[in-house]
Amino acid sequence: MRSYTAPFGLLRAHFMSVRSLLYSSPNLQHRRSQMASQISATDGRLSLASLPKSNIFTSKLPSDPAFETPETSHRAPREALGPRLVRGALYTFVRPEPAEESKLLGVSPKAMEDLGLKSGEELTSQFKALVSGNDFCWDEEVGGIYPWAQCYGGIAQFSELTKRSGSWAGQLGDGRAISLFEATNPRTNIRYELQLKGAGRTPYSRFADGKAVLRSSIREYVVSEGITLPLSLSALGVPTTRALAITLLPQSKVLRERIEPGAIVARFAESWLRIGTFDLLRARGDRALIRQLATYVAEDVFQGWEALPAMVSLDQNQSSDAVDNPSRQIPWDQIQAHQGVQENRFARLYREIARRNAKTVAAWQAYGFMNGVLNTDNTSIYGLSLDYGPFAFMDNFDPEYTPNHDDHLLRYSYKNQPTIIWWNLVRLGESLGELIGAGDDVDKEGFIRDGLTEETAPAAIQRAQDIIDRTGNEFRIVFLNEYKRLMSKRLGLKNQKDSDFQDLFSELLDTLEALELDFNHFFRRLSNVSLADIETEQMRKEIASIFFHNEGFGGIGYTEDSARQRVGDWLDKWRHRIIEDWSPEHDLERQKLMQTTNPKFLPRGWILDEVIERVERRGDREVLGRIMNMALNPFNDEWGQDRDEEERFCGDVPKFKRAMMCSCSS
Ligand code: AMP
Ligand code: MG
Repeated sequence: MRSYTAPFGLLRAHFMSVRSLLYSSPNLQHRRSQMASQISATDGRLSLASLPKSNIFTSKLPSDPAFETPETSHRAPREALGPRLVRGALYTFVRPEPAEESKLLGVSPKAMEDLGLKSGEELTSQFKALVSGNDFCWDEEVGGIYPWAQCYGGIAQFSELTKRSGSWAGQLGDGRAISLFEATNPRTNIRYELQLKGAGRTPYSRFADGKAVLRSSIREYVVSEGITLPLSLSALGVPTTRALAITLLPQSKVLRERIEPGAIVARFAESWLRIGTFDLLRARGDRALIRQLATYVAEDVFQGWEALPAMVSLDQNQSSDAVDNPSRQIPWDQIQAHQGVQENRFARLYREIARRNAKTVAAWQAYGFMNGVLNTDNTSIYGLSLDYGPFAFMDNFDPEYTPNHDDHLLRYSYKNQPTIIWWNLVRLGESLGELIGAGDDVDKEGFIRDGLTEETAPAAIQRAQDIIDRTGNEFRIVFLNEYKRLMSKRLGLKNQKDSDFQDLFSELLDTLEALELDFNHFFRRLSNVSLADIETEQMRKEIASIFFHNEGFGGIGYTEDSARQRVGDWLDKWRHRIIEDWSPEHDLERQKLMQTTNPKFLPRGWILDEVIERVERRGDREVLGRIMNMALNPFNDEWGQDRDEEERFCGDVPKFKRAMMCSCSS
């Protein structure tokens, strides 16, 4: 089945078996967000100046030899820092372009809190200068931390034409993102790398201008914050990169399909490393740097080698059916299956990255989120949703939907996302293949210096292949467990039953697809249904229309009666499952719980378009603040703002604004 064209050549994505399951079908960030939300609004939060800052990334990894130190880069004219190939390095020191004029349009209060910044700090001139690219930590006399842009590559997915590998894009890198420093929130001890998107050209800009338009900046600003939430509250805790602030550059005229205003998003993440970072090193045969980078990821991005998943044999009996029982999330059989293989620490690192991404893509599927461009350069080592381009939340349930206007082959469509992420992870397995395959020889001097020999290669290749295969299985199990956990929560279930997948999840998705109903609205409206209202068939058919659009339902071959019947039949199955899990006197409690799992508001494409239009054309900045407030509190019933607007944004998606698409980079 699988073959190598060369040692660690392209493995086929061997994931077809799970693929069919996926459409008919997070605890990683829980700890940190819980900690963050425990901090009271002002307690222990710091000024920008006193926030602990670091540059571990640049101090541990090699810089661009052409500008090896901050001084050499700083002395160079800004134009000299433009596009070229950079080898043997993971970044270039490069400063943001100062903006002539800038207007701070919005700041996320949740981001301020998670970074450990005290509120009010956003009003200071230092803050405004920092997030607009006009100031950074370095000083010619004193030194300090100097900004940098990362170097990486990327592979697009399989080509439908060749049915083989993807297309290699070569060197990409931060073409319009410049990192300023790492900041550690002293209360949570979480370290973030803060960067500006749209702050000018870098050696990685290729043919482009290093700028970002207001339109795409608003989209990224709102969704990065909207998709992550105080997890004590919710299940919609999709791990993501974050957005601190958005700044308009009124003087900056950016040419896209038309001339548009430019903007900068100040964004942050635990790590901006991507699978594409490893791809580039592998393409260049830079073994030493792959090892150095992998070691950096384990030791400085994660919590050290010891914290990575180990080959442990655990008692299967610890497992129970409770949806939130953490032991349910551990793939017992898979962990045991790893035994008997020489699994060294790089194999464990690989498994950790795969597991994180499995959980993230499970959350995307459970909440109907699509990234839109899942190339390896947009797939995070940390398992974050990354690089918000033509992303979207699902309106009517359609597994074939892709928000990417140029994606004619539906490579990034909803139903393909899990397979695509695994495909990307196989590429990572190939980059790490030599290290994984070396087993216990990985620290031998000869291997470190020369790599595999003709004698050691066959066994190492076999071992790497085995581990990648097993990790594929682990990915599938972690994905399915997480997906089932989230779907069970969304449906208000306390326990999981094997039959739920087919009877409840698949049947629901098929119904939504057949009747062209809204995916996320369905869950929210179901949260408000009491069991007393759906006791008889007549009652269920009566209530079915709350899930319909203003204009009714869609699909072919349904009459009003048969559409109501289909929804009613599903409601009956659901009702029986709820009765199994909840005693009748707790039905109100069940509804409340479901309301904190199923958002009323989501930053959908049509809403973002309206906000963009109002900010850009009419200078209406208040709407941006209101939308951010809704995005940060999506489970509310109301927000105490403009009631009509709130209801409109949470209501039926206007017919001609459903399933919108946008173009890739802007
Ligand atoms: P994306 O499609 O946004 O993931 O970008 C793919 C690559 O192109 C990344 O390396 C980006 O940094 C780079 N890129 C996209 N837009 C620009 C731009 N306007 N200026 C410079 N580089 C860009
Ligand atoms: Mg990208």
